[in-house]
Amino acid sequence: MASDPCDGCGRPVKIPGGIANVWTFADHRGTGMTLEFEDGSSHLLCYPCIEALPEDPTDEDVAALEDPGDREEE
Ligand SMILES: [Zn+2]
Repeated sequence: MASDPCDGCGRPVKIPGGIANVWTFADHRGTGMTLEFEDGSSHLLCYPCIEALPEDPTDEDVAALEDPGDREEE
């Protein structure tokens, strides 16, 4: 089982088997999944972050999850 930091909050996200098997998460109690956005980027996110995102999330929405008001260097 893979475990990588959430792109939103930085918490470890467990994904069973990695990206190739991401769609099986419901059967393996993973704590998050990789989302592909319409702009072509993809982000590993935990379920709380996924639920916090709007319906059509963008990179900016992910950045906002991390630490609102403290992302000026990008
Ligand atoms: Zn998160």
